Amino acid sequence: MLKEYLSKHKISNFEKVKPYLYGSNSHWDLGLCKAHFPSPGDCKYGEGCEWGHAELSEKEKLYMSQLGDAGKGFLMSLNSV
Ligand SMILES: [Zn+2]
Repeated sequence: MLKEYLSKHKISNFEKVKPYLYGSNSHWDLGLCKAHFPSPGDCKYGEGCEWGHAELSEKEKLYMSQLGDAGKGFLMSLNSV
């Protein structure tokens, strides 16, 4: 059981956008789906995905834009889709 949990967890970590990619850290981890951001529709798990597919809220975008170059770059990559 634990082994299954751990391997699932490991895969999950891989499928999630690492917070540092948008200038954050583990204290503010949005849990964004790595396949869905920044290419919506690419996630093979679809609605059953355990990571976030929802569009970023204005608040989240604002916060991200204040995170320096990484945050701004991430937002720009989303807008360019
Ligand atoms: Zn997903």
